[in-house]
Amino acid sequence: MTEAADPFEDVDTVTVQNALVSWYESDHREYPWRQMTDPYEILVSEVMSQQTQLGRVVAAWEDFLDRWPTVATLAAAERGEVVAFWSDHSLGYNNRAKYLHEAAQQVQAEYGGEFPEEPDELSELMGVGPYTANAVASFAFNNGDAVVDTNVKRVLYRAFGIPDDDRVFERAASALMPEGKSRIWNNAIMELGGVACEKTPSCDEASCPWREWCQAYQTGDFTAPDVPEQPDFEGSRRQFRGRVINTLSEHGSLELDELGPRIRVDYAPEGTYGREWLRGLLSDLAEDGLVELAGDGDSLTVTLRR
Ligand code: SF4
Repeated sequence: MTEAADPFEDVDTVTVQNALVSWYESDHREYPWRQMTDPYEILVSEVMSQQTQLGRVVAAWEDFLDRWPTVATLAAAERGEVVAFWSDHSLGYNNRAKYLHEAAQQVQAEYGGEFPEEPDELSELMGVGPYTANAVASFAFNNGDAVVDTNVKRVLYRAFGIPDDDRVFERAASALMPEGKSRIWNNAIMELGGVACEKTPSCDEASCPWREWCQAYQTGDFTAPDVPEQPDFEGSRRQFRGRVINTLSEHGSLELDELGPRIRVDYAPEGTYGREWLRGLLSDLAEDGLVELAGDGDSLTVTLRR
């Protein structure tokens, strides 16, 4: 992509945005800090999550807040106690505990106990890099830019063909984020990368809301910056063969144009992924003895062999 190219010129970004937000709102993993807008509680969760699996962070985060419920109590604590807590809960590098303690003291001393709301100011806090500053600004104050982490890069690369370049990712992520909605947007796109667009994606199983636009879904190429090889089970034809079998297990027999849209959302009878493409896939399956074909041309009926 050159500086001037717009990766979203062929898509209606509002529709794309709404699809993701609705998908996220209808179901997502619940973490307690997602219910919170307190910047201190969010900062603690973000620092803990940097090296520890989210599932394990929950208990540590709750214990931490029982012990030091506010930024003022953390600032007043002995540093050694905070570090000991960190080690006892196997939260990774102890330096993170030291930095968190120091950041709490900065908030007390420099900001009168009130967290700043701008990402730039937040990143002045000890141990708070641009990613964490942006996450706190988004989740606490709905005031962040688009978050770009490995998950988000993978999603943007696959769905919209954004090239593997950090500056381009940042520009694309910002262009796609609905203005003034960093809290829900960043949560939603990170959730998409975490539960649907994982290294081995679960596009259909997770009902990914972007299948209709996703370039990887259409081409079957699911490589990404952090997935240099095609994920094993998802070689494109293999994936679509699996979808045909699953669909026929449910329906028994289907005509070509009934089956097509059930296995790919971009099926169009006369299009690239239309009848001709589907007939090719089905004749392979018939040769392997997995389905039976009856009729010919466009009135082909396919039945699962039991
Ligand atoms: S359709 Fe699949 S590859 Fe594309 S964004 Fe969704 S989960 Fe990722």
